[in-house]
Amino acid sequence: PSQQLEFESPRPTLRWADIGGYVRIKQELQQFIRLATSETPSRLGIRPPSGILLHGPPGCGKTTLALAMIGESACNVISIRGSELFSKYLGESEARLRRLFQAARAAAPCIVFMDEVDSIAARREWSSVESGSPALRVLSTLLNEMDGVHESRGVVAVGCTNQLDKIDDAILRPGRFDRLVEVPLPSADDRAGILQVLAQRAPLADDVCVTTLAEMTDAFSGADVERLFREAGLAAMRADPAAAVLAKRDFVSGIAAMQDGRL
Ligand code: ATP
Repeated sequence: PSQQLEFESPRPTLRWADIGGYVRIKQELQQFIRLATSETPSRLGIRPPSGILLHGPPGCGKTTLALAMIGESACNVISIRGSELFSKYLGESEARLRRLFQAARAAAPCIVFMDEVDSIAARREWSSVESGSPALRVLSTLLNEMDGVHESRGVVAVGCTNQLDKIDDAILRPGRFDRLVEVPLPSADDRAGILQVLAQRAPLADDVCVTTLAEMTDAFSGADVERLFREAGLAAMRADPAAAVLAKRDFVSGIAAMQDGRL
């Protein structure tokens, strides 16, 4: 019980409805969690998937998607941030990782959510060549624990990374992260979906058209679209310190400001 307290993570409050666009990816994640937590595969003598790794460029909603999947599931969750394991817990990283998986098994059905997997599972040539280096010891602990997860069932691994090329291939073998899902930059349709979700929290003037904005924000990530609402808010306040709504011209100057900053 003390272990569970050490790792207790609040259940995410995010839901599928908070995610704009990415319809196919949402379906894939729904299907994954259904399969991974169902008894049916074992009954049929096939192995359920044990882990899923979301990868793609920064700010494209990997963490948000993973948290929505966890929030919508009936599982407990234990979260770990890759970089934290080496900074905050330096010197006890492996022991902590082992206790974490032990706590997850005790809390089954439980999702182990690993953000920044690349910093826990860096490819061997990226970490020190020294065989006893902390990074290598952590990697082999993680591989061992993930294999244990597969045997014990009831524990599902969910990971995110924006550096798939830095990850050790061994982590992608069956029984570990055996599903890979790419979360690319959003398409115009996806951006329209993201704009729609974010627009629910913002007072918009009648002249704002989500489809037009989606077309004007080529190459924006979800995080960029989120920032656009802040930029538009600032533009609205500059035009009228008592502004009550965001108008099309505010978004237009927000987009211009962001594109200037980038080029
Ligand atoms: P990183 O690799 O940098 O960790 P990430 O891909 O995990 O990035 P998130 O942290 O999930 O990206 O998203 C960044 C921000 O953008 C979040 O605050 C989120 O609210 C918003 N966002 C991104 N994509 C979407 C989306 N599809 N729908 C709604 N909000 C989104």
